[in-house]
This record gives sequence, C-alpha cells and structure tokens, in this order.
Amino acid sequence: MSDDDVLTIHGPRDAPTALVLDSPHSGRRMPADFGAACSEAELRDGEDCFIDELYAEAAASGVPLLAAQFPRTYIDPNRHAADIDPELLAEPWPEPLVPSGKAVLGKALVWRTLDDGRPIYARRLGVAEVRRRIERCHRPYHQALVALLDAAHARHGVVWHLNCHSMNPVAGVMGEGGAGATRADIVLGDRDGTTCSPAFTAFVREVLEGWGLQVKVNDPYKGVELVRAYSDPAAGRHSLQLEINKRLYMDAAGLQRHAGFALLRERLGLLVQRVAARFTPGPRHG
Ligand SMILES: [Zn+2]
Repeated sequence: MSDDDVLTIHGPRDAPTALVLDSPHSGRRMPADFGAACSEAELRDGEDCFIDELYAEAAASGVPLLAAQFPRTYIDPNRHAADIDPELLAEPWPEPLVPSGKAVLGKALVWRTLDDGRPIYARRLGVAEVRRRIERCHRPYHQALVALLDAAHARHGVVWHLNCHSMNPVAGVMGEGGAGATRADIVLGDRDGTTCSPAFTAFVREVLEGWGLQVKVNDPYKGVELVRAYSDPAAGRHSLQLEINKRLYMDAAGLQRHAGFALLRERLGLLVQRVAARFTPGPRHG
C-alpha cells in the first residue's frame, strides 16, 4: 500500500489481473484550508462512506484500488478540472469552462451546496484557491488512476475499470431525480453504453442480481468524468460506474456501519474475483 495525504493505493500497482478499482469519494481527511461554513459532519454529506473499506478484500486479493483521502466536498475528482461553478467564485475563471451541468445541483468541481441545498461557504472562492485544490488533489488523483489503467492495459492488452461509489437511499433537494426519489440497491452507469463493452455491464449486473439485489442501469446515475475520461472500448479500455445504496451497509444519518456491512464486503470481494477471472485474458504466447 502506498499512502499520502491526498491518495492511497491499496493492493499491487502492477496488476496481475486486468481489473482496476477506484474510490474517488470515500476520503475524509479535512484539509486545513477548507474554509467552509459547515460542520465536519455536514461536509461528509457528499462522502461515499467506507467504500474503500468495502473493497479492501478485493485489493488484498491482488486488484489495485485507488482511494482519494480528501473529501469530495473539498474538490470532486469525478468532475472535469474545468467544470467550475461561476456562482462559487469571487472573480471570473480565466480559462474556458467545461460544464457538466452539475453546477445547477451545486455539485460541480468544487461543491457550492450540500445535498439539502444549504450553502457550504459563507464566502466566494478565489481563482488561486481553486487552482491549488486542483494541483494538490485533482491532478494527482487523475494521474494515479491513469498510471494504474495504463499499467494494466500494457500488461493485458485490455483494462476493465470499476469506478466505485455509494449513494444516499433517498434523494435530497439537490439530488438527481428530485427530492424524495428512492434509489435501487445498485445503480450501474456506463453513460448509455458508451464507456464499456455491454458484456461488462451485463456480467456485473448478473452477479449482483444473483444475490437478490435490485440493479438499475443508467437510472438515475449514468457515470460522470472518471468513467468518461479514460474509457475507449474500441481500444480495450472499459469503465463502469458502480453505485451502492448506503442502506445496504450503513445507517446514513449516524454515519455508522450496520450489520449488513460484513456481508456486502464479502460479496464485493467475490464480485471483483469473478470479474477479474472472467475478463482477464489468458497468458499470451509467442
Ligand atoms: Zn461517489
């Protein structure tokens, strides 16, 4: 395992399998320069709690897992670096923006509001401050993910990337689908079939449904920047987003694991083993 303030890589960097995992939203080391007007508990609103721990067995079995250590509300690695919300800034952003549409929900690169719509800051942020967050957190995260994906692709001629998240059981005011929308057990996102082979989505769905879990695909989460940016199915680069409903493993209000945690961790370990066995090519000869 390698570890610093910004990110941790569990498991091997040079993957024996063609599978790579990443958890961009489970970080909870609050940076000293956050300057938010909310409590630490409120800032964990956007956190995919314990997702890195849930996949730890998978990493121990030989699949690399990149995990962000900084909170998602500080800067979101699952956004383009130019997906800046102009309403958050005290001054204009000096370069062209690449909006994802998430700014309307207060959830662009740097979040403006919590899921319930309350503002995160009692101030506007400067361009230099946002740039520092990009350089310190966003860029190293993307560089580390690309290095893992490239290493697996170089070794196996193909890479299968599972982008690992969790979601609140019920949408808040600023949630996808509107306040009160309830979520399935699992939502897989392949941006309407554009980020991976349909066989990848179908296999993961089949394994999860085999355990009696309710799985939806691209509804309401289609996947965002991390499955978009580095996927290229025609070139053997496949990315799939996997959202797990927090009700399967934790009491979302109290931010505590519940009795379902151990079973889910075991199943995710099995899922990863099965995906790795199914999609890692055999040894190449000659
Ligand atoms: Zn997430």
